[in-house]
Order: sequence, then structure tokens, then C-alpha cells
Amino acid sequence: MMAEGKNVSKKWEKYSIEGDKLVRKNDFCPKPECGPGIFLARHKDRISCGKCGYTHVEDSSSEEE
Ligand SMILES: [Zn+2]
Repeated sequence: MMAEGKNVSKKWEKYSIEGDKLVRKNDFCPKPECGPGIFLARHKDRISCGKCGYTHVEDSSSEEE
């Protein structure tokens, strides 16, 4: 018996399914040219899209300078 589901997309590792809901583990790029399916790369203090260059600096709660 051969399993046909061997070529499962790696993307699905970034989801978890709870009940009938699909829960994202990563953020998607908000830009329309990317949208759902394009994950943002998470950095220490920001997230960025490797496709369109979108960057979002995460606002860390008022830290002392
Ligand atoms: Zn993007």
C-alpha cells in the first residue's frame, strides 16, 4: 500500500487545527500582493515579509532607554 499524502506542503506545519477552526501560528503579510499564505519572518523586535519587504516593528511596551 502506498501512501499518497507524502507530498504534503510544509506550510501546514505552521497551522494547528482546533475543532473546525484553523489557527495560525505565524502572521501573514497584510499586503494585498502577498496576503494569506505569505508568512512574515519573525525577528527579535520586528516582523518582515521576505517577498514584498513589508516590515512591522513591534511596539514593545515602554522600555527604558
Ligand atoms: Zn509581503
